[in-house]
Amino acid sequence: QQIGVVTESTAGETRVAATPDSVRRLLGLGYEVVVESEAGAASGFPDEAYTEAGARIGDAWQADVVLKVNAPSHEEIGKLREGATLIGLIAPAHSPELVEELTARPITVLALDAVPRISRAQSMDVLSSMANIAGYRAVIEAAHVFGRFFTGQVTAAGKVPPAKVLVAGAGVAGLAAIGAAGSLGAVVRATDPRAEVADQVRSLGGEFLAVEVVQEASADGYAKATSEEYDRRAAEIYSEQAADVDIIITTALIPGRPAPRLITAADVASMRPGSVIVDMAAAQGGNVEGTVSGKAIVTDNDVTIIGYTDLAGRLPAQASQLYGTNLVNLLKLLTPGKDGRLTLDFDDVVQRAVTVVRDGEKTWPPPPVQVT
Ligand code: NAD
Repeated sequence: QQIGVVTESTAGETRVAATPDSVRRLLGLGYEVVVESEAGAASGFPDEAYTEAGARIGDAWQADVVLKVNAPSHEEIGKLREGATLIGLIAPAHSPELVEELTARPITVLALDAVPRISRAQSMDVLSSMANIAGYRAVIEAAHVFGRFFTGQVTAAGKVPPAKVLVAGAGVAGLAAIGAAGSLGAVVRATDPRAEVADQVRSLGGEFLAVEVVQEASADGYAKATSEEYDRRAAEIYSEQAADVDIIITTALIPGRPAPRLITAADVASMRPGSVIVDMAAAQGGNVEGTVSGKAIVTDNDVTIIGYTDLAGRLPAQASQLYGTNLVNLLKLLTPGKDGRLTLDFDDVVQRAVTVVRDGEKTWPPPPVQVT
């Protein structure tokens, strides 16, 4: 079968679903690969790099299997041939209308972002790979705007104290931010309602600020909505920290809910001029009062609040590389014979979980998966 790699049409998107390197691995699974002209341009991969890897440049929309990053537009859905399989970020839980529209065509649609978060599927977990890049990039954005050293220095020209960074939420993105800020030399502190992450924070050199209110553990490893008492105590910690730190990076999310509000306008007002906040939850409503999704704003007291929603895409080559690898790993699972034939086995929880539409029939939502 033929795999098509198409150009992303979403404004500002820099990523591409396959790199020359991942194309080689797709060929190794027995597929032919067609890449739309300029598909990799914004990621720094010219057409020639794809042809050198063994792909053909041509009409990728007519392929049997179409690889994409973002969900397809109405027009793009119409371009898919009958019987085609589309794989990309679909966010089916948040896009019921898109799922209906996809169901109206005789196609199969697999949502890479619906890979269950079980150990076996980690190599396909695009939410983790993108959150890891975004957490790193959040620190780089903050350091750029901050305009001062992160590391402390004692020089002949005087002593410079290290920057202090608070990371709220120590999941995949938060841990990446803690690692990046620490390696630049900052003093890093972190919070999270999941007490089990304290050791991970410490192993990256950060200090875990425990909110001494017992939270009921959840069965799936994700945070649940926090109790009122927890929020009250956490708010005190955020107020103390806001007045002390130079940088705040917030990453707090609870699946299926709007982002929890952690940092109030009063906290922001208490920060020193020149301080920086990166609100990584901006697209889900924001953890910080005053965040504008997609933009960086400067408050009256000269605090910059960054609400960029494309942080992973700001490292386009790397983001495409990891996205492409996640896709190759899914295709390996779907091509057991390495014969360039995609098969779908609904007895496998991973394959079942990602399938939103099968041959024009809606298969979303899948039965719940036991998290391991
Ligand atoms: P996420 O993006 O949903 O949330 C980010 C973080 O925000 C989480 O650590 C969460 O606990 C935290 N948070 C929620 N409410 C908060 C609040 N009020 N204040 C502060 N922080 C708050 O989560 P994620 O980063 O995608 O993943 C979370 C965890 O899931 C991981 O750390 C890991 O344990 C698990 N996971 C497992 C796998 C796997 O394959 N086994 C893969 C990915 C993630």
